[in-house]
Amino acid sequence: MSGPELGRLIDEVDRTVDVQFAAVGDVDELNRLYASLLGRRGSLNALMKQLPGAAPAERKLLGQRLNAVKGRVERAREEATARIKRTARERELSAPPLDITLPGRWRAPGRPHPIMRTLDEIVDIFVGLGFDVAEGPQIELARYNFDLLGFPADHPAMDMHDTFYIAGDPGQNVLLRTHTSPVQVREMLSHPPPVMIVAPGVVYRRDDDASHSPMFVQIEGLVVDRDVSLADLKGLLEVYSRRMFGEDTKTRFRPSYFPFTEPSAELDVSCLVCYGENRACPQCKGTGWLEVLGCGMVHPTVLRNVGIDPEVYTGLAFGIGVDRTANMKFAVDDIRSFYENDVRFLGSL
Ligand SMILES: [Zn+2]
Repeated sequence: MSGPELGRLIDEVDRTVDVQFAAVGDVDELNRLYASLLGRRGSLNALMKQLPGAAPAERKLLGQRLNAVKGRVERAREEATARIKRTARERELSAPPLDITLPGRWRAPGRPHPIMRTLDEIVDIFVGLGFDVAEGPQIELARYNFDLLGFPADHPAMDMHDTFYIAGDPGQNVLLRTHTSPVQVREMLSHPPPVMIVAPGVVYRRDDDASHSPMFVQIEGLVVDRDVSLADLKGLLEVYSRRMFGEDTKTRFRPSYFPFTEPSAELDVSCLVCYGENRACPQCKGTGWLEVLGCGMVHPTVLRNVGIDPEVYTGLAFGIGVDRTANMKFAVDDIRSFYENDVRFLGSL
């Protein structure tokens, strides 16, 4: 390479050194740039190797110029290093202070709601006994919720004060289901017997006090087949009570009334808190018994309404308030606490 040509290349590097180092943003970029100039394969080293090719008279001057550019590179590197350190330090100082004495942040693991846990437990018991799980819509037709179940037209449950009807429906044909019984109706309409289902789900009523919430969870069961008897109902619910509340749980059936069953009964279990031994027990109010569910033999009219011959088939049905069951299980005073979404309360159960 001729001397003037080499001189031109040296000038070119010289001109760009300051601009290139000023543009560098961090230590890695800086190291890469430095290596590209003065590394083993760097451009200034390459030019250095061309030096012997220049005319002897020019060599000394070219060598001095190359050394000057090298010195410039070294200085530019020092400046850039200082600048990068300064910037990092400034960033550090302007950041919010780190308080290493703060306790670590704990993220609570989630878990199912106590009512859903109770519901799962109940479903498991019945599935273990051979029941299928059936579900239906929460917005329901009055026909399925009341009419086909044999509710008399003037039944108080159908009153505006007890049921949430859908606005803009003056005929009161559409409502939020007040129980999961319409699932039973749908099931009987779509499947011929034998039917053996539990229907878990959310239901709605216009109630709001310590033992009633306007929205609550129910699970109902239905068995329709030949020769289903009251003895089957009793045996089934005794097994359920023992599995749910403990092997030594006692049960008691009291006559009751529901429009869709005949005969009808309420099932009580012995108090889980005092076992009937504390007259002042707040859970059972001193009676020794807790009301657990309503049940009965499916009314022949209901079977006829869904096209099943009551002379051939009989059925048993029961309805369990899951909130009330959770209430008993967890000994909670106010059923509404379950729906207030206070994690301090829910986490304590
Ligand atoms: Zn008690």
